[in-house]
Amino acid sequence: MAGAPEQQLVEAARQLFAAGVMSHSGHANLSVRLDAERFLLTPGFVRDLEPHQLATVGLDGRVLKGELRSVSAEIITMHSVVYRARPHVGAIIHTHSPSATAFAVAHRPLPCRTEPMLRFGQPEDVPVVPWGPRGSDVSVRGIADVLERRPTTSAVLLANHGLLVFGPDAAAAAHLVVAIEESAEAEIAAAAIGGAVDFPEGALEAVRASIARVAS
Ligand SMILES: [Zn+2]
Repeated sequence: MAGAPEQQLVEAARQLFAAGVMSHSGHANLSVRLDAERFLLTPGFVRDLEPHQLATVGLDGRVLKGELRSVSAEIITMHSVVYRARPHVGAIIHTHSPSATAFAVAHRPLPCRTEPMLRFGQPEDVPVVPWGPRGSDVSVRGIADVLERRPTTSAVLLANHGLLVFGPDAAAAAHLVVAIEESAEAEIAAAAIGGAVDFPEGALEAVRASIARVAS
C-alpha cells in the first residue's frame, strides 16, 4: 500500500471493516513502524479512523507525539514486543475477528488449510499464546516466547482474547487478517461436514512455483 504511514493505517482499518473481520465493537489497534525506535499507533477504537488520531510511540513505551488514553497504554507493549523481536516487521494489527477469536478462546492453534492463508504469509498453523491480562508481563512474555519458538509465524492467537498479526506493511498484515479469519470460519464450518483436510505434501512449494511463474 503506497502513501504516508498514517494513510496506510487509515486505509488498512477501512479495508478490515469493509471485509467484516473486525471486532464487533470496533475495538482494534493497528501500528506501522516509523524507524528502529518508533511506531505509529491507533487509539483503542478505529471505526472512522482519521490520521490526526494516531500517536507516535517509542519502542520503550513512551508516547512521543499525540495522545493515547491510559487504557491504550496497555496495548503499546503488545506491539513493541513484536517490533523488538522481529526487525523486519513493518506493521501490526490486533483485533477480535470473531472466528479467529473462537480458536483463541478454545486454545486451539489455527491450522493452515486454505489457499489464502498459504499464499498471504502464514503457511503454518497460528500458535496460541497463553492468557495474561492485556499488556501485562505475563502476556508480553508469552508473546515473546512464542515468537522465539516459532521464528517464521506471522500471527499469534492470544488465548481468551483475540488475534495479533504482523507483516512487512499494513496492507500485507491486513490481507493476512482477512485470510486468517476466512480460514477460521471455514474450519468451523467444515467441522460440521466431516472436518477440514490438510493440504497434500508439497503444497507450499507448488504455490511458490506458481507465483514465480506468474511473476516471471
Ligand atoms: Zn484486544
